[in-house]
Amino acid sequence: MIKAVIFDWAGTTVDYGCFAPIQGFINGFKSIGIDITDEMARKPMGLAKIDHTRAIAAMLDCPLSEEQILQAYKVFEETLLANIEQYCDIKDYVSETADALKRHGIKIGSTTGYTSEMMDKVLPKAAEQGYSPDFCIAPDQTVKGRPYPYMIWHNLMKFGISDPREAVKVGDTEADINEGKNADCWTVGVIMGSSELGLSRDEVAILSQEELEIRKNAVRAVYYKAGADYIIDNLDELPDVIADINRRLVQSAPHMLLTPGPLTTRDSVKYAMLTDHCTWDDEYKAITTSVMNDITRIAANDNFDDYATVLLQGSGTYAVEAMINCLCRKKDKILFLVNGEYGRRMLTIAENSRKDYEYLAFDMTKPIDIEKVEKKLKKDEDIDIIAFVHCETTTGVLNPLEELAKLAKSYGKKVLVDAMSTFAAYDIAMPGLDIDALAASSNKCLEGLPGLSFVITKKMLLDKSEGRSYSHSLDLYDQYQGLYANGGKFRFTSPTNVLLALRQAIDEYKKEGGLPARKARYMENHKVLIQELEKLGIQSIVAPENQSYIITTFELGSFDFSKLYAALKLKGFIIYPGKLTAIPTFRLGNIGDVYPSDMVSLVSAIGDYINAENLNVNIKA
Ligand SMILES: *Cc1c(COP(=O)(O)O)cnc(C)c1O
Repeated sequence: MIKAVIFDWAGTTVDYGCFAPIQGFINGFKSIGIDITDEMARKPMGLAKIDHTRAIAAMLDCPLSEEQILQAYKVFEETLLANIEQYCDIKDYVSETADALKRHGIKIGSTTGYTSEMMDKVLPKAAEQGYSPDFCIAPDQTVKGRPYPYMIWHNLMKFGISDPREAVKVGDTEADINEGKNADCWTVGVIMGSSELGLSRDEVAILSQEELEIRKNAVRAVYYKAGADYIIDNLDELPDVIADINRRLVQSAPHMLLTPGPLTTRDSVKYAMLTDHCTWDDEYKAITTSVMNDITRIAANDNFDDYATVLLQGSGTYAVEAMINCLCRKKDKILFLVNGEYGRRMLTIAENSRKDYEYLAFDMTKPIDIEKVEKKLKKDEDIDIIAFVHCETTTGVLNPLEELAKLAKSYGKKVLVDAMSTFAAYDIAMPGLDIDALAASSNKCLEGLPGLSFVITKKMLLDKSEGRSYSHSLDLYDQYQGLYANGGKFRFTSPTNVLLALRQAIDEYKKEGGLPARKARYMENHKVLIQELEKLGIQSIVAPENQSYIITTFELGSFDFSKLYAALKLKGFIIYPGKLTAIPTFRLGNIGDVYPSDMVSLVSAIGDYINAENLNVNIKA
């Protein structure tokens, strides 16, 4: 929640239109024989006054000596100090707004372009009129004035605020907004009576409505370009702004996602998105290539040159669809092995892309039955390809990838795998198992952000897939040509920021220690989760030997899922509904930037919910 509002002085809380300094600068420059306009005098407003003097000097055609600048400043200072008390009228709504904020426990801070000597004259005048902020600092009392954030930092220190997002900077110039942004505070630009508007009350009064709107819009444009979070006409709008910021702070409070993706991601991964890149840029293309190469190395390190990773814009399903669509020929018969929603999704894809296929369906709470598959392969010789999901995220059941791949290969079949939720968490050596293609995405165990998926496959298969796609956008061959032959160039707009995040996520994966470390963390998360939940009497549906260490389905028993969800969300945990139809269940993922201690906290929150609701939990008993 917002704890402090830091106001500027002239033009924001006192001196409507910010006129006090103008005559001073005009006199100052006149004293060295230079005439400046009001507009020039006003342009750098908000800076420390000595910096303001230098900024005006920089606008002149002829360079000034340091001596001349100091002389101009001296006269400016004398003029201002002589007149400043006439320019201390507080602006509209200042004392009411400050009082209202104080009543809500919000501290009122302030920063200024005036020197402390000038402020010594302004402060008592403002106090007389009912406005005394809790703190005021001038540029000469710290290292540098605006746009440096130091004066704001002094305010934060004074109020004991460690997170600058709990403070709002309010001002009437570009320099104010820059100062607030540099301090990482929320920023608010005030239009009426601002230096940017540069009009007295009388001047405003004689403007037509249209003319005033035009002038106000020009001020708005300056604040907007500077990056202001809010732009208001007058300070009476500030309480609503703060209410809105508080709402946003609550909304953006960190949640831990205990779901199968998108996942809780590291800050570094999210921050990596802050750079804008162009799809065509060579540097960006090199990053794209490095991402594809790193993914290929994770899957097929020993046979790197034989495999390629083709990135696709879109969620994981796009990769699964592109894989089935392009790597299966028209004459191929595909056998899908289905024991959950994601397996069923492959059937839909095959149906829509008019592939020749059959499927074997299995109990959703059990792995694919190898014997039944072998029986089928023995009987139906015309099957060319088998396709299945490695970990059925529907339930958390882990399918026997190695055995299935070996079986398929012993019958000379191709193998396509949806390894969405296991890639980078399970050891899947594609060359060793001779897996033909594998689909996964950025936002599962690589712990990147959603928006990119990929197919890793043998280059040989890709090379033969030209012209096979029924879809232009999901044409894996075309995409491969763009990305490989064209040095990392996406055919169509790429999610540049998401790709940068994926680059960072892969770096984090390596930093953690690659597969062994990530796998160990997930296994430990899973072990702790199961152990702790068992203490509450909450049991997993899937037998331990068939259970992945990625996501687990638990019996919901007498709980109401939406109530449990809401209670846990309040504590910052997001859980997942179950997908089994026979019994009520819920799911918990333990992948992402989460740790065993988080599992303990989660289960403790579930325990609190159970106690609060007085639920009979011993489901099995
Ligand atoms: C997440 C996931 C997908 C892809 O789902 P999207 O919503 O398209 O990202 C596919 N298969 C499995 C097994 C998954 O876990």
